Amino acid sequence: MKTAFIYSDRFASFSYGFDHPMRPVRLRITYELIEALGLFDLSWAEVIPARRATDEEILSFHTPEYLSALKEADSGNVPREGIRYGLGYGDNPAFRGVFEWSSYSTGASVQAGELVVEGRVDSAFNIAGGLHHAFPDRASGFCYINDPVVVIKYLLKKGKRVAYVDIDAHHGDGVEQAFYNTRDVLTISIHEDGRFLFPGTGSINDTGEGEGRGYSVNVPLPPGAGDDLFIIAFEDVVVPFVEAFAPDVLVTQLGVDTFRGDPITHLNLTTSGFERMIYGFRSFGCPWVALGGGGYNIFNVARAWTIVWAVMNGMDVPERVPDEIKRRYGDVFVVDSIRDTEKGIPPSVEDIESLKRNIDFLMREVLPLCKV
Ligand SMILES: [Zn+2]
Repeated sequence: MKTAFIYSDRFASFSYGFDHPMRPVRLRITYELIEALGLFDLSWAEVIPARRATDEEILSFHTPEYLSALKEADSGNVPREGIRYGLGYGDNPAFRGVFEWSSYSTGASVQAGELVVEGRVDSAFNIAGGLHHAFPDRASGFCYINDPVVVIKYLLKKGKRVAYVDIDAHHGDGVEQAFYNTRDVLTISIHEDGRFLFPGTGSINDTGEGEGRGYSVNVPLPPGAGDDLFIIAFEDVVVPFVEAFAPDVLVTQLGVDTFRGDPITHLNLTTSGFERMIYGFRSFGCPWVALGGGGYNIFNVARAWTIVWAVMNGMDVPERVPDEIKRRYGDVFVVDSIRDTEKGIPPSVEDIESLKRNIDFLMREVLPLCKV
């Protein structure tokens, strides 16, 4: 087994603004936690310095006009016609280095894809990736370049069939839309119901179009879902669809804004349910490109992505946050246990029944369309 962790010290040097929930510094804290736990000191694992994406890679999905506007925004000023591109407003500030940040996040995802395609590793993890909301000509939901789409386009160019599974709290709308009409990519998104959370899409009835029908799958979950509903959705939807599709490469978006204590979502996942899903991804035994995603409680981000890296490498999940990390980031690590110690809250009978009805629909109407 060989694994790679794609990383750059540059990641943490960017800031969306002091009051913005997306804080790239979370990536450095995660890296330092994994390092302090000795989980980079494995003979089969490599830390690979991240590179920036090329214009050509970015243009495999985004429009030239949007790329120009994003480059203009790199100065930290709102570009001309910024509003047309969603740049410099609301969720998507034009902060200094916004283009550099986005091209690093995307370059690292493509590197993960390259390492897997070339057979140099079995799985690779880019914690800076998973920015799944960006559209071809528009920034959205803290995302400027859609790195999952760019790496999937790269994998398609190499003749691979790709299953993309997105367990972020938000619907993976940008990725779903990019591949809504094709059967070369299976997209599955488990997310908080769009009636309660941005971006509002991802209904159970959205299942792909034309020859892509049966190759887009959505599992909306109610606020407060917790571990049990995630595990049901994973076991009863993700597993049968991925097995039916039999991908050459698995790409996962592992946003951790699903966790209890996340300031902008309401899904109440704990490390217990999350870890089960990560083991599930690993047990597909498929070349695996793992990407980060949302996560606005830094304590959760650092713990959860440490769990991903440990599981990916077949290591036991460590028990405690090392003292040196607690000393360095005392405000983040208020508890020193990597796993949650409190159990999650069980879902209501109504919520379980509603999810089961949705799963019945997917099994009856959609799974039969999804084939190798
Ligand atoms: Zn999210």
